[in-house]
Order: sequence, then structure tokens, then C-alpha cells
Amino acid sequence: MMTNWIDISVPLYTGMVHWPGDPEVQVNQQQIDVEGTPVHLTSISMSAHTGTHMDAPLHFVNGADSMDAWTPDATIGAVRVITIEDRIAIHAAELQQHEIKRGDRILFRTANSETNWVGEPFKKRFVYIAKDAAEYLVSLGVQTVGVDYLSIGGYVNDMVATHVAMLTAGIWVIEGLNLSNVDAGSYEMVCLPLRLKGADGAPARVLLRRLP
Ligand SMILES: [Zn+2]
Repeated sequence: MMTNWIDISVPLYTGMVHWPGDPEVQVNQQQIDVEGTPVHLTSISMSAHTGTHMDAPLHFVNGADSMDAWTPDATIGAVRVITIEDRIAIHAAELQQHEIKRGDRILFRTANSETNWVGEPFKKRFVYIAKDAAEYLVSLGVQTVGVDYLSIGGYVNDMVATHVAMLTAGIWVIEGLNLSNVDAGSYEMVCLPLRLKGADGAPARVLLRRLP
């Protein structure tokens, strides 16, 4: 049995945190009787941008690629986890210390991962990727970026600017990760978004395994 995988996706359940304005998550577990046998049937209703999920370029860019354009290379393979010291936002000046390279897959572990945010009310001042950092990541030509709250852009600042910069450049985005049990370093990642046809995003299961 493979026991060294770390599950960095968050659980989905009724009442969990979601972006303001998005619908509530509903996970309805029913039990019906079929020929005397109790049968359990769960139905789900949620935004594609709740919990651990991916953004497709289409999310903020009219006419851009939907999740249909996702390929396994985008989110399966080597990934770096970088710890961010800034407790407000991720800025280019801090990223420049980390020798990020073209084609890299990067996950940012921030102060967001110090709390079990999925079970708490929506936090307007989560650590986000500032516009200057988004533009820096675009200039480097990274392949994939993951963050440990519900959005790459901030609620108060750079919500649109960061999304537009990174999604226009075709960077694949993973949001809503739980990196509380993950140290900085090199890992193997498996991230599989649901195959939602034509969608601007999709819930995903994400696993990490430490590289030797
Ligand atoms: Zn999203």
C-alpha cells in the first residue's frame, strides 16, 4: 500500500466556506428503500470554484480555453512547494529569492495554511498573489501555480488583475489547497480536475509525495 501520499485537497460538505456570492455547498445524503434494502444516494450542488479546484483560462478571459484544454502535464509531475514569509501578499521581490524557472509547477504555502480555513467563515484578508508577482510569474513562464486559499487574487486587492495576468498567459491555476502538513521542498504531484465539459473551473483531488 502507498502510504506516503499527502492529500492536500479539502473536504467538501454542507456549510463549508465559499466565495461570497457563490452558492452554498449542498451535499445531500439520502437513504431510500429499494426492495427492502437501504440504498444511500448522495447528491451535490456547488460552485466549480469552491473547495480545492482548478481555474481554466476561460474563468477571466472571454474566448480562452476551458477545462477541456487541460492535459495531464499541467498538474501531474514534479512540483515545488515554496513557503511565503509575507503575511499580507505574495510579491515579486520575495519570489526572486527562489530561482523559479520556466515550465515550473509551484505551490505557495502561506500563513493561510496556519488555520483550518475550510471550516471557518470567509476571510477577506487571506494571503494572495499581488499583481506584481502575477506578472513576474508570467514573465518567467511557469506552467502551474497553486495557492492555499480560494483565489490567486485578493478579495480586497488584485482580484481581477492577478487572474487576468496569469490566465491570459495560460498558466494553470489550482486554488483551495490545504498545505498545513507540507514543508517547503520538491514533490511529485497528482492533481486531477473533474472533466466538466466546457467549464471555467473544476473541483480537483490533489496529492503530493516527497521526492527523495
Ligand atoms: Zn477559482
